[in-house]
Amino acid sequence: YYLPKFFKYLILGGGVAAGYAAREFVKQGVKPGELGIVSEESVTPYERPALSKGYLFPTNAARLPEFHVCVGSGGERLDPKWYEEKGIELILNTKIVEASLHSKTLRSENGIILRFGALIIATGSRVIKLSDFGVEGDDQAKNILYLRDVKDADKIIEEMRDKKNGKVVVVGGGYIGLEVGAALKLNNLSVTMVYNDPWLMSRLFTKEIAEFYERYYMSRGINLINETSVIELEADSSGEVKKVKLKNGRELEADFVVVGVGARPSTSLFQGQIEMSRGGIKTDGLFKTSIDDVYAIGDVAWFPMKIYNEMRRVEHVDHARKSAMKAVEGIMAKGKVVEEYDYVPYFYSRVFDLSWRFYGDNVGDATVVFGNRNPGAKKPKFGCYWIKDGRIMGGFLEGGSDEENKAIQNMAWHQHKVEDLQELKAKAERTVVHN
Ligand code: FAD
Repeated sequence: YYLPKFFKYLILGGGVAAGYAAREFVKQGVKPGELGIVSEESVTPYERPALSKGYLFPTNAARLPEFHVCVGSGGERLDPKWYEEKGIELILNTKIVEASLHSKTLRSENGIILRFGALIIATGSRVIKLSDFGVEGDDQAKNILYLRDVKDADKIIEEMRDKKNGKVVVVGGGYIGLEVGAALKLNNLSVTMVYNDPWLMSRLFTKEIAEFYERYYMSRGINLINETSVIELEADSSGEVKKVKLKNGRELEADFVVVGVGARPSTSLFQGQIEMSRGGIKTDGLFKTSIDDVYAIGDVAWFPMKIYNEMRRVEHVDHARKSAMKAVEGIMAKGKVVEEYDYVPYFYSRVFDLSWRFYGDNVGDATVVFGNRNPGAKKPKFGCYWIKDGRIMGGFLEGGSDEENKAIQNMAWHQHKVEDLQELKAKAERTVVHN
């Protein structure tokens, strides 16, 4: 575009939230030519969680266009043709490097100028690198891999092929580390996971929950090294890392390294222009920011979480989808009253034959664990409730049926009253686990 291109509605970012927003715009009657999506990625919006799951499987791996949005929530699959048919312009391979929110313009790396009536910021997150913690050798090496987009996932696949049956060190014990570690093992690599915390997924799991997954991972032949961090990645003359040095003095051999140590909201373009907190963009209950006609959805939004009466940021796919739909509903309301976002956090993971879900908030003064946590069981099924001031705040379930997961979600929504912890445990054993 030599002349600035104008869109009545423009979405910056082409991830999960952007895709669900596009579908909602169409549902709400956007006209051809009114909506544009600008994205650094080379593909149209897809269900990002697939990248650390099906995408890395040794057989029947998921590939685009299979997992474009909105298949992850059981919806219609929006392939590139869908956008064309709806008159939605996709400006791919285009990184925005400057955003001027007051003058309503964006500028891309390659000089494209985009103007907008309303802007939806959906830039998601970018990975935190080991070099951000001052680890040496991270930036130079070719075989230190991260996972955020399809290009990253393809690099992991390439390394898996090149280093067949080789050794891989996975840094990080969160859900990316756990999912990638499992996928690498399924691909016959020798996997060692290294994490700082005393146990896996320590931001969510209690020690008892983590114990199950640790024993399960070990039974699958994955080595776990906890409570230590990587201090140096030592490369050979070809520029490939061969050795991972740990704080506890151990040295691990590696053919390649995959790092999953967290992500940060991608909001640096807006710094100083808009109200922000801890890297997130402040919004109201309809995802309006402090600037007129500018909205923020998905990972970047710092929004009022009504149920807890608190501002929060959520980095999960379910929220990316729902915040996108809510924001567009508000934008297209034309005077109609739209109810504010009311949401209970939900996230999940799937590894090997396991599958867990969590609803609510993992806070409180007590936890109640129930069920069969034997990793050798044919079908382990167990759960945990978090209780605060006599109410259930959060619920976790491994191996639950749809119905059981719904029941847990319901409890977290309504914050069920708990009179007696023993009784709660006994009831959970009876109703959830043994039906
Ligand atoms: P994203 O989906 O990250 O999209 C952001 C988009 O903005 C990208 O296309 C990016 O390229 C683009 N962008 C950013 N900056 C610019 C710029 N300057 N110019 C142009 N384009 C730009 N959540 C779960 O709940 N369950 C899971 O199992 C799960 N698994 C995951 C697995 C992986 C590997 C990853 C990376 C995440 C996973 N998540 C999971 C988290 C979930 O995917 C995110 O919360 C969700 O994608 C957020 O949606 P979003 O649209 O806000 O951001």
